[in-house]
Amino acid sequence: MTAVPAANFTVIGGGIAGLVVARRLAMAGRTVTLIEASDRLGGTVMRHTVGGIDLDAGAESFATRGGTVAALATELGLGNDIVSPAAAGAWLQPAAEAAVPLPATSLLGIPGVPMASDVIAAVGARSALRAQLDSVIPHLLARQSLTLGGLVRSRMGAGVLEKLVAPVVQGVYSVHPDELSIDRAAPGLRAALALHGSLAAAVRSLRAASPAGSAVQGIRGGVNRLVIELIADLEAYGVTVELGRRVADADGLDGIVVRATPLEKPAGRSTVLATLVVAAPELDAAPRGTGVLVAYGAGGIRARALTHATAKWAWLRERANGPHVLRLSYEVEPDDLEAVARADSEALLGVRFDRVIDFARVQWFRPTPTKPGSAADVGETVAGSGLAGIVGQATAAAEALLRPSVGKD
Ligand SMILES: Cc1cc2nc3c(=O)[nH]c(=O)nc-3n(C[C@H](O)[C@H](O)[C@H](O)COP(=O)(O)OP(=O)(O)OC[C@H]3O[C@@H](n4cnc5c(N)ncnc54)[C@H](O)[C@@H]3O)c2cc1C
Repeated sequence: MTAVPAANFTVIGGGIAGLVVARRLAMAGRTVTLIEASDRLGGTVMRHTVGGIDLDAGAESFATRGGTVAALATELGLGNDIVSPAAAGAWLQPAAEAAVPLPATSLLGIPGVPMASDVIAAVGARSALRAQLDSVIPHLLARQSLTLGGLVRSRMGAGVLEKLVAPVVQGVYSVHPDELSIDRAAPGLRAALALHGSLAAAVRSLRAASPAGSAVQGIRGGVNRLVIELIADLEAYGVTVELGRRVADADGLDGIVVRATPLEKPAGRSTVLATLVVAAPELDAAPRGTGVLVAYGAGGIRARALTHATAKWAWLRERANGPHVLRLSYEVEPDDLEAVARADSEALLGVRFDRVIDFARVQWFRPTPTKPGSAADVGETVAGSGLAGIVGQATAAAEALLRPSVGKD
């Protein structure tokens, strides 16, 4: 009997998805080539240096759900460097009123206790009362609306949706909840709703299930360390990496082709990220916790979200040693980004800065998710935005590709 040779693989796209798949396949002894269009690996997970501090230029945290990223980080030797953000939490800048802390018990802004005082402060008593009706609406309504926005509107009303959930979702995903499927935004939410009978109870149950009560975690030194370690493993397992090669057509590539990026530019929108390193001792008190999510129409503010990175991550605060790091995201880039980012930050944080030490601008493209064409499609366009879902899907896809039947006919 002759042994069937194991298939070779070519992975297109060297973002986190492509790196995870290439590593898994190579660890199983397969011959793997990874082709990347740009001159570096990592895609949206990237490091840059601002004000002399090494920072994440894209993703800076990961959802704890499923434990996928923590498991990968641990495999890569970074387990001891997984950190939780400061417990202070983020704030919301509503359209008209003053900034308020985000409700303590919430998921993507959906309140777990609609009549809690922090919910009433954020949306007003009338909207909170409407949201409370969720507890008496039969859960069948959830089946009619497949977007997160549709679900929240039908169960808790437009007030909670527009004043609370939309700013949070837009800050995280750069889309309105009406454009986001429930299962992508909050896996398990529909099942929990069916089980517990109300959206608020579903939120409470999912929050209780999060490890250590934190929905996100980070890595001391930045999540870009995942990429550094993944690259080291690709070298160790003999993956051939071709940088600066944009694949237009997968035909003719060696072996089984894994698409870790769509070959044609997908639909989507761009986001501009402004990073400021500032001297402002008043920020030591973290006046808006870990940052601020901004509702549309909030008095002259053009940013969609601000992360006070040195308040969110203790390791970064130590490293910055005095100055503060702020990240602001923009859907529409203003003409003078640095000046607008400074003005927005000062308004949102209620603090005048002594000076801006350094500034950086990065532009990213955020694709609209589509359905996978085949089992060998991985990454953001098929798994949705976010490292947790992407790492989980890429790992599962690699395991499926390694099953004995694949590539032997
Ligand atoms: C500003 C910003 C902040 C974010 N923050 C977070 C966060 O805090 N937490 C979180 O979980 N997620 C965050 N995300 C989302 C997360 O970073 C992405 O979902 C994830 O990194 C996407 O990984 P990917 O490998 O699927 O795609 P990408 O990172 O886009 O990688 C795709 C790669 O394929 C290459 N490529 C494209 N076309 C071709 C071709 N034809 N041939 C060869 N190569 C090609 C690209 O150059 C790129 O390197 C953020 C995203 C942005 C933009």
